[in-house]
Amino acid sequence: MKFEQLNLDPSILMALQEKNYEQPTPIQAQAIPLIIQKKDVLATAQTGTGKTAAFAIPIIQNMLNNSDKKPSKRNIKALIVTPTRELAIQIDENIRLYAKYTSLRHCVIFGGVKQGKQVQSIRRGIDILVATPGRLLDLIGQKIIHLHQVNTFVLDEADRMLDMGFIHDIRKLLQLLPKKRQSLLFSATMPDHIVKLSKQFMQQPSKVSVAPVSSAAETVTQKVYYTNKADKKQLLLHILADGSINQALVFSRTKHGADKLVRILQKKQIKAAAIHGNKSQNQRQKALKNFKEKSLRILVATDIAARGIDIQQLGYVINFDIPNIPETYVHRIGRVGRAGATGIALSLCEPEENQFIKDIQRLINQKLEAIQKHPYPQTEKPMSKAEKKVFEQEKKERKSAYFASRKKRDGGNNKNRFNRKGKNRN
Ligand code: AMP
Repeated sequence: MKFEQLNLDPSILMALQEKNYEQPTPIQAQAIPLIIQKKDVLATAQTGTGKTAAFAIPIIQNMLNNSDKKPSKRNIKALIVTPTRELAIQIDENIRLYAKYTSLRHCVIFGGVKQGKQVQSIRRGIDILVATPGRLLDLIGQKIIHLHQVNTFVLDEADRMLDMGFIHDIRKLLQLLPKKRQSLLFSATMPDHIVKLSKQFMQQPSKVSVAPVSSAAETVTQKVYYTNKADKKQLLLHILADGSINQALVFSRTKHGADKLVRILQKKQIKAAAIHGNKSQNQRQKALKNFKEKSLRILVATDIAARGIDIQQLGYVINFDIPNIPETYVHRIGRVGRAGATGIALSLCEPEENQFIKDIQRLINQKLEAIQKHPYPQTEKPMSKAEKKVFEQEKKERKSAYFASRKKRDGGNNKNRFNRKGKNRN
């Protein structure tokens, strides 16, 4: 199939040609015609499948179709809500590309930065708004954003959105949207609670689906290094001594762990930076920009911060720790092998994570290739059930001792750190 067969405006076709998009991806071929027909669409598709264009292109097309019915004042007609700032920025960048030869206006809003510039853009009048939920509700509350002319609503990465605790924000938002509208829901996975949510706001949606999460990343070569916890850092340095790894996205489970890794890498003159929820938006954008421009070799990210990051031609993903949720692993390795490219995913597995690798293999129905010869082989055993119980108990005690001493130190005046649900997310 060709884009020309989708009845798109020449201005869109020109922009796509300029981006060297030769043909629609499967999700685009399925979703674009339905969205142009104004159907509600429930789509299972993960990042990397071309899902952003699958909703952005027909939204632009529908606006061009309606451009003769211009309202007297520009008001938001399409609202796209997505869980993370990075993803929001990326969607807006894609809209900029696809709408380059149209006069449509769009902008992106997200928290963590001052609202001034975002408010200015909105006041100038926009057709398409991309937003994260918190800032969106905030600006609606301030009566800066009005939704009464929204005719298309997109809930993007719905599964992640709920994982991140945005359900109440979404419910609130749904009540503020005009009843008569087109709704589109995109999600990498379609568990029951998402289907249930969709029923609350969609009218007999057409269902489209590509590459279920477990069959993702067929183009990614996946290898695992079994090692000991204490040897992981040395093993990472050993892996990076291979000069052919020109760039890698390294995943860390925690923000603290990500910072620690960056310090270790920098000590070895490896250019690295971290992105996670404790970094300011500017720091995150700068790190991402430097990584995309290849002046950074390593970007260390937590799962939520890395969500939706689109780095063209990224060859390597390294899992410094193994996620206990197998789907998270699939999301991670989906950072490489995007839009049909090839990539390599390396995982560093300590004894306690052996079970996680087994769960991942079960989900993807594939055995990861274990690297046999390396200088830091796994020699320790996973803890027995009894040992684990003692370990968890000790961990709990250490944690409560830490918080008790912090409370004492701060005189109980440390409310701001966690005062709003979700404020301190990765
Ligand atoms: P997404 O799933 O929206 O994150 O898109 C993944 C990547 O695929 C992005 O870099 C897009 O620019 C790219 N892409 C989307 N659609 C196409 C297409 N039809 N042909 C080539 N690349 C595409």
